[in-house]
Amino acid sequence: MDKYISVAIDGPAGAGKSTIAKRVAKELGYLYVDTGAIYRTVGYHMSLMGIGPKDADGIKRCIDDVNIEIVYGEDGLQHMILNGDDVTDRIRTPEMSMMASGVAAQSCVRDYLLDMQRNLAATRNVVMDGRDIGTVVLPNAQVKVYLTASAEVRADRRFKELQAKGENVRYEDVYTDVVKRDEADMNRKIAPLKCAEDAEVLDCSYLTVDQVVAEMIAIIRKKAESNG
Ligand code: C5P
Repeated sequence: MDKYISVAIDGPAGAGKSTIAKRVAKELGYLYVDTGAIYRTVGYHMSLMGIGPKDADGIKRCIDDVNIEIVYGEDGLQHMILNGDDVTDRIRTPEMSMMASGVAAQSCVRDYLLDMQRNLAATRNVVMDGRDIGTVVLPNAQVKVYLTASAEVRADRRFKELQAKGENVRYEDVYTDVVKRDEADMNRKIAPLKCAEDAEVLDCSYLTVDQVVAEMIAIIRKKAESNG
């Protein structure tokens, strides 16, 4: 039996993975790892270097200059440190969502980040969310959940989140970004977003956060019991 428990949560943009995963991790006392933030940090570095999301040569040239540290603050927040600079807030913009999706399609980036993600799960119980956690990063995770919701619901949630942060955005643009990002993430050649065969699908279009958290914890307890 494995020493540590890994909970892998994958799903499309804006399904609420981070909100749910953070709450579930807190309730169980597990470490929460937001892998999207790692791709966003790489995307942010490339944009600082003036490299576009589809510039494969540029990304390859610069990937070795990316030094990422993940620091967990007393607030329990996952802080992303890029070459010594805390970029946690700067990676949460619609531009960085698209940059992250662009760099995430490059194999040099995915290879570079794979060990970092696996190492985080090697020494403690984790709830890790992303796009390829159950399929590629932690294929042996004891619990896998594919969290999804309709594109309209996901765009609406993202829109409200951005508005609450004071960003001047239009719903139509947020919707288009969500759909474009899903398409890119699902159709890329390497580690595309897909539901692992052994994942439980949880559609949270019409569920509250509390309901999804409760459902997720029930799934984890059931799996943990059946694994002995
Ligand atoms: O989850 P989040 O929206 O922050 O992810 C940003 C982007 O990073 C995604 O659109 C996806 O392209 C990429 N990503 C990925 N694999 C992961 C996590 C995120 O390709 N495990």
